[in-house]
Amino acid sequence: ECLERGWTGLGYKTVAFEEAWSRYSGLRHSHFVNSATAGLHLAFRVLGEANGWRRGDEVISSPLTFVSTNHAILYEGLVPVFADVDESLCLDPVSVESKITDRTRAVCFVGLGGNPGRWHDVLEICRRRGLVAVLDAAHMAGTWVDCRHVGHDADVAVFSFQAVKNLPTADSGMVCFSSSEHDAAARRWTWLGINKDTYTRTLGSGAYKWLYDVEHVGFKYHGNSIMAAMGLVGLKYLETDNERRREISGWYDQDLGDDQAISRVPMSPGCTPSRHLYQILVENRDELVVALNERGIFPGVHYRDNTLYPMYAYGAGTCPKARLASERVVSLPLHLRLSREDVERVACALRELVAR
Ligand SMILES: *Cc1c(COP(=O)(O)O)cnc(C)c1O
Repeated sequence: ECLERGWTGLGYKTVAFEEAWSRYSGLRHSHFVNSATAGLHLAFRVLGEANGWRRGDEVISSPLTFVSTNHAILYEGLVPVFADVDESLCLDPVSVESKITDRTRAVCFVGLGGNPGRWHDVLEICRRRGLVAVLDAAHMAGTWVDCRHVGHDADVAVFSFQAVKNLPTADSGMVCFSSSEHDAAARRWTWLGINKDTYTRTLGSGAYKWLYDVEHVGFKYHGNSIMAAMGLVGLKYLETDNERRREISGWYDQDLGDDQAISRVPMSPGCTPSRHLYQILVENRDELVVALNERGIFPGVHYRDNTLYPMYAYGAGTCPKARLASERVVSLPLHLRLSREDVERVACALRELVAR
């Protein structure tokens, strides 16, 4: 439709996808952007401006994440302060609370693999200590807790629809602020600070359709109609896709559950997770992955402890559980074409190759 109509840019399908995402998730404000990285940056820009944050102010974050989470904090001149993870591989509320200083402004919680972990305890700390709560929900499209989609209680939740996520559109994301003022502020940053988009101008009538003002030095962060069209179709299948992911995860549970050498990362009880990842911890991770590769099985690693990278090295040694997980974690194959037999084959290879 986009190609035939000749409208592939902002407007047209992007608005429809924002509305569809809000209807699906129940999140009031959905703003479609070209990546979750852009969405996270907007989150820190808008919340920082609204709350008068200064350079050097601190955001408590996880070292066990895709670097986007922490880069977005740095983009705004803020300092990621790393707290440790718990058995869910998400932020541990006890560690979070111990990292709060008088410069702490926000906590950024990552729902690893679609797992809400102890988000509610972290949120409670944020509310009690007057901190902004940011949810990096890049893995959480379709994670439900108590019949509500995750993100409704965050100050902002950011979803990724990047190529390898569970609602893939090649590249895009959704930034969902709880406040309409913050949502409006973010929209002023998303397209270079231009106050009227091209699509709105084509819909208008009369002279001066070409006329717009530039109110500030904004970014080129908006999503386009091709990605939105993919998202609109993908969204129709998200629930059945995630259901399939949970079914496959159940097979792994059955096949691996009794093996002491394979420690399965637990999903937070009572949630219906997107199951973006199925993660285990093993002692011989590096050799195991090589050996699995030799058998044509290709697991992933999410993630390396970010304090191993030079820009976050100041945090090295502060989060021992995250470091250990970074050395042991494996994400097992989890895609929609896996059969029961495939899972058996992976489980069988794992049992054989894992260190005992
Ligand atoms: C993928 C990912 C991002 C970034 O998403 P993009 O849409 O690729 O920018 C951020 N955080 C986490 C945890 C991710 O996995």
